[in-house]
Amino acid sequence: MRTITIKPAAITHNLNQVKALAPKSNVLAMVKANAYGHGVAAVLPALQQADGIGVATLREALEARQLGWDKTIGLIEGAFTVDEWQQAIEHDISCVIHHAPQLDWALEQIPPVDSATRMVWIKYNTGMNRLGFNNQTLSSAAKSLHDAGYQLILTTHFANADNQDHPLNAIQIQRFNDMLSTLRQTVSTNIKGSLCNSAGIVNFPEHHHDWVRPGIMLYGSAPVIDQSAYTLNLQPAMEFSAQIIALQTVQAGDAIGYGSRWIAQQDVKTALVSIGYGDGYPRVVNGDAYVSVIDAVNQQRYSCAVIGRVAMDMIVIDVSAVPESSALNSKVILWGDAPHVDEVATHADTIGYELLCRLSVRPNRIQM
Ligand SMILES: *Cc1c(COP(=O)(O)O)cnc(C)c1O
Repeated sequence: MRTITIKPAAITHNLNQVKALAPKSNVLAMVKANAYGHGVAAVLPALQQADGIGVATLREALEARQLGWDKTIGLIEGAFTVDEWQQAIEHDISCVIHHAPQLDWALEQIPPVDSATRMVWIKYNTGMNRLGFNNQTLSSAAKSLHDAGYQLILTTHFANADNQDHPLNAIQIQRFNDMLSTLRQTVSTNIKGSLCNSAGIVNFPEHHHDWVRPGIMLYGSAPVIDQSAYTLNLQPAMEFSAQIIALQTVQAGDAIGYGSRWIAQQDVKTALVSIGYGDGYPRVVNGDAYVSVIDAVNQQRYSCAVIGRVAMDMIVIDVSAVPESSALNSKVILWGDAPHVDEVATHADTIGYELLCRLSVRPNRIQM
């Protein structure tokens, strides 16, 4: 069976790691892109101790409300239209305001005093150069929002927080901290700050401010380049698995799979695994890609190389090390504890984030 197993207990554990790293900050747990592919419905119960959740689209926000999430929902790109702004008010969604049109909507339609939409995240472009007001426009936007009765959180997003030594980090931190002090002096002492994603939480403990916004680390991936999930005591929240459905011996000189790219140097025992890019396993993996086989009889674990092209519905692995009598029907772990999704991502020249959130609807989904 092709199966995605979600482990809510791992997510709760990872949330507790965030809280241990950022004990004074509120936590906005990022559940955008269907909770990084884990499934919002499966994940929300594990995040009950978070102060809020963050999503990228109004539809994701409404889905979370429908699932019963009654605390803060932060909409990280804000409303895209005035109609979305109205819906945000209706459903108590707390929006980012990153450019003039959103500012206009907020000033024209002010939510009731007790509405959660009264809290807005005003976005400052400190160097990422995607969203946000700049150095010239931010202060006056903040002042108008404050005067209209909004509570403000100054926010920005790191471009390189995964690499502690990148020179832009210090620049972004400085700009953010300077702007926050200016606003506190000139607009209101109550203005809050939110700077750190997962990588910032790990790498910049001095700059956690009022709200941290962890995403990937909640799901058990390492957010920084110089530490692993293991050293950060993060637990993978997803296991992606399949099964050996056939065995073969391929003769020396014979080729395997589409394009006949992989040629056996000697006779090799191979197994067919019922998984492919149609499920979300990456099509392009390099020669270091491997899976774990859990032997169907003895429950022994073996590392087995992925050989030949990944197809839509199947892959071939080298099972020379697995006892032939027990290999058929064995469980195959594509990612989970080993290999970790971050390793698979490296073999596919991408990041764990992408592999997690591009899984298809075909695999069964269960929770454990
Ligand atoms: C996605 C996102 C995060 C979380 O990032 P991670 O690297 O997954 O921790 C935080 N803040 C914003 C604005 C985001 O878009």
